[in-house]
Parts: sequence; structure tokens; C-alpha cells
Amino acid sequence: MDNLQAYPLLVPIFQDIENIIGKDTYDMWLRPARFSYEGTVLTISLPNQFWGKTIRERYQHIITDAFLKHLGAEISVVYDVAAQDPAPAVSSAQDVIPVRPVPAAPAIKKNPFPSRLNSSYTFANFIESPSNRFAYKAAEAVVHKLGNRENNPLVIYSSPGLGKTHLLHAIGNQILKDNPNAKVLYMSGEEFVSEYIEALQNKSSESFRKKYRSLDCFLMDDIQFVAGKAASEVEFFYTFNALFESRKQIVLSSDRTPQQLDLDERLSSRLLSGIIAEVKRPSLETRIAILRQKRESINFDIGDDVLSFIAEGIQTNIRELEGSLFRLVAYCGMHGVTPTIAIAKELLADILVSETDLSINVNSIKKVVGKHFNIKMEDFNSKRKTQSIAWPRQIAMFLATELTDLSLPEIGREFNRDHSTVVHARDVVKEKVAADPFFAAEINQVILDIKAVDKK
Ligand code: ADP
Ligand code: MG
Repeated sequence: MDNLQAYPLLVPIFQDIENIIGKDTYDMWLRPARFSYEGTVLTISLPNQFWGKTIRERYQHIITDAFLKHLGAEISVVYDVAAQDPAPAVSSAQDVIPVRPVPAAPAIKKNPFPSRLNSSYTFANFIESPSNRFAYKAAEAVVHKLGNRENNPLVIYSSPGLGKTHLLHAIGNQILKDNPNAKVLYMSGEEFVSEYIEALQNKSSESFRKKYRSLDCFLMDDIQFVAGKAASEVEFFYTFNALFESRKQIVLSSDRTPQQLDLDERLSSRLLSGIIAEVKRPSLETRIAILRQKRESINFDIGDDVLSFIAEGIQTNIRELEGSLFRLVAYCGMHGVTPTIAIAKELLADILVSETDLSINVNSIKKVVGKHFNIKMEDFNSKRKTQSIAWPRQIAMFLATELTDLSLPEIGREFNRDHSTVVHARDVVKEKVAADPFFAAEINQVILDIKAVDKK
């Protein structure tokens, strides 16, 4: 985006905004604008008052929402109309302020099919590491052998912020690069559901169907939003089958494994017949590599020591990792200071603290629960089913789902059980917490004790 050259970190945000409001609207209202960003203030420089009014009334909330989503920051928007005032149509030559030409949209012949892809997410800027290698390789294989039965569908799953959306866009962008006429569509599960409902209301489900069934590659993000929504799920199933039968590529992402999704059995078994790739949490080295790549792309002077400090403090979510770097850079840029560990510590205190909470380990939970309910450490993993042991064990599993960032199967392994036992334990304890205030108070105390143990 030519008007964001000085702010590469903003590019994905504005790409998102473009996807939401559509390219034509974006080209008309936002592309001619100039943006600058300092601290938490976004300044939009515009040709005239009318322009400012339109953006404020129609698009400002979309812009602020996008910033919040990407950076976790509430921003304020300032309009600077004078800076780019074009010459009025009638006026004497002397008092005309030179006009900066409004940049025209690039003249490349565009694929007319709206792919909704964000071009800033590519394979080239995705750091490959052991935690995502399998998913990365599978994504590349999909591009090279589009629709091949072996790779179809590809399902990528992980906890939030680990690169699923990035990989889906990277696949789409690469397909279009190799074949500019390919019909690729990126869509989130939520969008699919709401478009489907809209199509039903407008009685346009036929064209809804047609649109999907003509695709070469369908990239559907966050399919957990479709699971369990009966009518949309059925529609998705038909779309899926139609594409699958005609050997068109399907790539899906989810925040849990296909088995854990509440899906119709036929759909579930279809998903299981393809490739299922988990993206795991990145190691410290990977997190540092990602921050270094970001540093390069924004070209800001920030030391390796500071990058390592951030990478150590934020372990579970790459979106937060990037957002933290960005906050630090914005702050230091505004105050004209060089980033240091001390500044990072102060500025990122809120997010680093929540990371400490997440880093609670299952052993601390077992220790505190064991002491509180008087059971031994080995009882947590034993097969014994006596209520006096089974109940504290269920409480510990529930707490592990609440206090750690481990997946259900990972928690299951910590207790020598499978994930469905963890789900059951979580649900019964949750129910009791909701129904019994005394029990809820007791659990709260246990949580405080666990946090105290874990800090030592
Ligand atoms: P998810 O969809 O899993 O919630 P995203 O794909 O939105 O996660 O990733 C969050 C942010 O982290 C994005 O800005 C993305 O570009 C970045 N990111 C994630 N993984 C990587 C990676 N391996 N290399 C570079 N950037 C990454
Ligand atoms: Mg995502």
C-alpha cells in the first residue's frame, strides 16, 4: 500500500480494512488518504472536509476495530484536511496550493474474482520452525498439487495467534501468483454463517451455492464457527462435497482438532481423510526469529537484548508478540528514545503479567489441590476411582483447563487420561462452581494458592 510506506506494520491492518469494506470502496475513500501513526494516534490526511466526514461517519469504527484487533490498542483518529487540500476548481493561480496527485489504483490487470486475500501474508514472511514445519510443508504441498486427494482437505489447527490465518492467506496468494486466473476464496467460518443466513433471507441461496462451487481453492478459516450451527453446517457439507468430488482444493483451519469439533459424523470423517496439521507453540528461538524479521521490516533500531526479553515474556501467542513489539516501537518513536529492557518491562507489564499466569504448570496445580484435598501426587495419575480421589483429580483437570494454555489432549496426558475425560471433568466442576457459591469460594482460594506457589 503506497500510502503506508513509512508504516509497514500497518499494512496488514489496512489490508484487513480493505477486505471488510471491499476494494472499490477502499480505492475510493481510503487509498487517496495519507496515514501517519504515533503513539496511539492515527492521523488521516485528506483532500477535503467532505472526505473526512465520510470516513468519520462510515469507516472510522471499522478502522479503530481493526487496530484493536491487530494491536490490542484503542486508538484515536485525527483528521488533517489542510495538509492535502486540493486546488478548488475556480481560483486564481497564485493561491493554489500544489496538489499532490491522488494515486490511482495500480494498473495491473486484476483477477476479477474477489479472493478476499490479504496480500501481506505470504510464505516468504512466515518463519518456518519445528513447531509449524508440518503445517508449513503441507501448505506448500497443497499449492504444488492443487486438489490432489492426498492433501485434500488440509486442516490446520492450533490455539489462537499461531499463524493459521497467515498460512491460509499464504496458500491463496501463492496459488494466484502461480496462476493469476485461479478462483481462490478466503473466508472465515463466521462470514460463511452470516452470508448463508443472509442468502436464505434474500432467497438467493442458489447464487450463494454457485459462488462456492465454482472455486478452485476454498480457504475457510475458523471452521469451529460453523460446527453445531445445523443449517450452515449442512450447507457447508454440501459445498465441501461438491468441491471435493470435483477435485478442488479445500483448506480449513480450526482452533481444535477435527475430532473435537462438534461436527456431523460424515463431515468429520471427510475431514479426517485429508491431512491434519497442528501448529504448536513456538520455541524461544522461533519467537526471537519472528521478532527479528519484524524489526527488519519496520527498520527500527532495537537491540537483540530487548527482543529476547519480549520473546521470553510472551510465549503462547505470536499476535501478542508482534503487538508488543509494535507498542514498544510506537512508544519509543514518539518519545525519541531507544528501546531498553526497562522501558519494555514497564510498558508491557500488563501483557507480561498475564503470560506469567498462563505459565502455571500442572505440577503446581496437583501440589496445591493434593494438599488441599489430602491426596497424594501419584493419585492424580492412578486408575483409582474412589470418589475422595476422583473428585480432587477432576478439580485439578478443570483448573488445568482454566489456568494453563495446554490443549485438552495435553492436559489428558498430564493425568494419564484422554481428552474426553478432561472435557467431562471440566464440565462437572464448572457446573458445581456455578451452582454452589461456597464451592466457588473454595476453588478461588485454591487458585490463589496455586498462583502463589507458581511465583516462587
Ligand atoms: P491464528 O490465525 O492462528 O490466530 P494468525 O495467522 O492471525 O494466527 O497469526 C497472528 C500473527 O502472527 C500474524 O500477524 C502472523 O503474521 C504472525 N505469525 C504467526 N506465525 C508466524 C510465523 N511463523 N512467522 C511470521 N509471522 C507469524
Ligand atoms: Mg486466525
